[in-house]
Amino acid sequence: MSRVVGFTTTIPVEVLFAANCVPLDLNNLFITDKDPIHFIEIAEKDGFPRSMCNWTKGIYGVVKEKKIGTVVTVMVGDCSNTEALSEILSHKGVEVIPFAYPYDRDRDTLKKEIEKFMRLFSVDESALKKVEREIQSVRRLLKKVDELTYRDGLISGYENHVWLVQASDMKGDYRAYKEMLKSFLKEKMEGEKREGIRLAYVGVPPIILDLYEFIEGKGGYVVFNEIQRQFSLPYFRCDIVERYLRYTYPYGIFARIEDIRREIRKRNVKGIIHYVQTFCFRIMEDLILKDTFDLPILTIEGELPKPLDTRTKLRIEAFLEMLKSR
Ligand code: SF4
Repeated sequence: MSRVVGFTTTIPVEVLFAANCVPLDLNNLFITDKDPIHFIEIAEKDGFPRSMCNWTKGIYGVVKEKKIGTVVTVMVGDCSNTEALSEILSHKGVEVIPFAYPYDRDRDTLKKEIEKFMRLFSVDESALKKVEREIQSVRRLLKKVDELTYRDGLISGYENHVWLVQASDMKGDYRAYKEMLKSFLKEKMEGEKREGIRLAYVGVPPIILDLYEFIEGKGGYVVFNEIQRQFSLPYFRCDIVERYLRYTYPYGIFARIEDIRREIRKRNVKGIIHYVQTFCFRIMEDLILKDTFDLPILTIEGELPKPLDTRTKLRIEAFLEMLKSR
């Protein structure tokens, strides 16, 4: 049986596939469960404080309940909670493998980190190259999903979010994922063109369960999912090191702003939804985003994996009304 390896955020997943492992993004396992809150309860029962991010608690709950024996934790370039989470997982007997993106986006440092990662999983260059070629063909299909959203109006913002967010682990089996993706695209090519107020969604993926459904039900159309698109690594004709250097998420808000600016222009976006997670340090980045972009920005904060509350629904409706009247 293949070895299951969990991870806390996007890593060079090509290496794990080349090692014949089953990579699983713990965030995806948490949020797609039919009862995600119970993972948070597992963490709180074990002593995690109430006043901390529920994604971190959800990840812990998933590792514990599903008895995941090995977890790759991204120590630099993701979350300020990961160091303590790694220590707790180690303490509980989980094999923890740290991975760090270089904060200064230095190519040599990232190259060494990927080579170390390859050695740990006994992956050689030729095995990696073979898997990379296959995975790049999946990434091209994901790019198509994105184009059919913002260019052709054939895919909803929610569908775009789901497919791109799953790109981090390709559901543990990139070949099966590719087949699913192909049938989805085939079905969508024949669908109807949708319209709406063109929006960008920036920030980490939402913990709120019905956010897209509500926005798109009220006349909004999310044509850009910033971080989710980054998870799909739409970067071609480059080696693995270059691909993960062009990936903006680990390299701070300014790397992200460059990408957001280019994409909102290209996609003719009229307003921005900035999603922030309660107790997340990234909330502070809202200040920089609001100072940087001229477009109207609505900041939405989510805490638990639950449907939207009434107050946030009213704020979204008012935001869409305001954009409509502009
Ligand atoms: S939402 Fe923020 S605090 Fe929570 S896991 Fe993600 S980066 Fe960390």
